[in-house]
Amino acid sequence: MTRVALIGGGLTGLSAAYYLERDYPGVEIDLFEADKELGGRIRTDTTHNVVIEGGPDSFLATKPDLVELCEEVGLGPHLMGTNPRVRGAYIFWKNRYFPIPDGIQTGVPTKAKPIFTSPLLSVAGKLALLKDFVAMTKGREDEDQSLGHFLRRHFGNQIVDRLAAPMLSGIFAGDVDQMSLKATFPHLLAAEQEARSVYLGSKRRKAPPPSPFAQRYHSIFLTVDRGLQQIIRKIAENLHQTRIMLSHPVQRVTPKPGGQWALSTSSGVQIYDALVITTPSYVTARLLPFLSSEAQDILANIPYADLAVIGAAYDPADVPVKTDKTGFLVPRGSGLRMTAVTWVSSKWHYPYTEPLFVLRAFYGRYGENILQQNDDQLIQLFRQELEKSMHITADPRYLRVFRIPQGLPQYLVGHLERMARIRQELKRFPHLFVAGAFEDGVGMADRVKQARETVQQMGQELNLSPTEVPFETST
Ligand SMILES: Cc1cc2nc3c(=O)[nH]c(=O)nc-3n(C[C@H](O)[C@H](O)[C@H](O)COP(=O)(O)OP(=O)(O)OC[C@H]3O[C@@H](n4cnc5c(N)ncnc54)[C@H](O)[C@@H]3O)c2cc1C
Repeated sequence: MTRVALIGGGLTGLSAAYYLERDYPGVEIDLFEADKELGGRIRTDTTHNVVIEGGPDSFLATKPDLVELCEEVGLGPHLMGTNPRVRGAYIFWKNRYFPIPDGIQTGVPTKAKPIFTSPLLSVAGKLALLKDFVAMTKGREDEDQSLGHFLRRHFGNQIVDRLAAPMLSGIFAGDVDQMSLKATFPHLLAAEQEARSVYLGSKRRKAPPPSPFAQRYHSIFLTVDRGLQQIIRKIAENLHQTRIMLSHPVQRVTPKPGGQWALSTSSGVQIYDALVITTPSYVTARLLPFLSSEAQDILANIPYADLAVIGAAYDPADVPVKTDKTGFLVPRGSGLRMTAVTWVSSKWHYPYTEPLFVLRAFYGRYGENILQQNDDQLIQLFRQELEKSMHITADPRYLRVFRIPQGLPQYLVGHLERMARIRQELKRFPHLFVAGAFEDGVGMADRVKQARETVQQMGQELNLSPTEVPFETST
């Protein structure tokens, strides 16, 4: 019988286990997780009858793999979209809330009037939109550049710093002036290549066909009614051939003759026919010391942003501002250290929760050392900044700090080239598969897609026979 080891029990590793069982039922699977629980970055706290997410709070319905997986494991009836009555977010700048101007698509204006009438921008900031029409030089298609450099060339600093950067950098907790354009928002480069003007190229861009899942659940962003950790629980419940070993950090893997692999943990050494490693890149680098020094260096040096998320529940009477959007984004230079606040109770209508006002504040960007602050300092900062931004002075009914060291990988300029070099190096090692958020997207849906494709590739490489009987899930 073929034996496969999966290293890492976050969404990528667990989905890989699910697809392996579903598509190749004869395989024996061991899943090793360093932590005492599964889920990795996905953490939900429901202890006080409110849903507080410590990591992601939603995923895209437009990318089908994760929605399909949720439906397969029986979570279909529990999927829910954002509150339809609440659209968009504010920008909090110099102590005021500004609505994001209409027509901004992935951080880029596609309508001129809302930009020219937005009080968020000065006259010079607005006029900089015209730069886009006279930006006669196109970026070279073959060379990467920073997202910030690209956008500043087209739209000037104000539109970038006050609008595009807070909208685009949030996904990675990144710095637009260091993020790779090609690895993060390549369609903006495509818009420039096509029309020179990114405004016109984005405007002309055909809307993608309507997503059947977004239509089914009436929303582009989805979550689960008791929080995203339900996805982790449900996938785990549906694994019947996988031995899950918690608190089992893998220490080392070593290639053996014939394409087999030795895997060492504190419980000893075991031999497998194939490995799937889904750990963050700095762990993956340690696990694979036999890679070329170049590949080792690349993996070990992918930077990550340290993050903190503070979730808090308030008596609604203690919240004096109008919370009629999903929350607010905070540009750098606004005088606050928080990067965004989600008004959870406005964005989602979680059933089964106490009628409290829940919010989440995000701290940490690439290059900042937010986790140098201990929990008490973070709470103090949060309360001061909440008073400044939302005039909340009351004590929260419940508050929780989530510390996330090395929370999100950074796709810096040249990222795709570096990943290509790693892929090339990995080809030398049969039956070794490496996946993870440092490549192919940090979003939850990207993680599941990569897990499915990795398992498919493994099936082909190992000549595994696909399932002939329908796979039964316990829903
Ligand atoms: C604050 C925050 C907010 C986010 N918001 C969103 C969002 O709203 N929507 C969205 O789509 N995505 C979001 N993301 C991104 C998304 O959550 C992650 O990209 C995704 O969950 C990563 O899954 P993963 O399994 O690849 O990695 P991880 O979740 O990092 O899992 C890797 C696992 O490997 C384990 N491990 C490490 N070392 C070892 C070892 N030696 N042996 C065995 N196991 C080991 C770890 O303990 C961990 O469980 C967010 C991320 C963060 C941090």
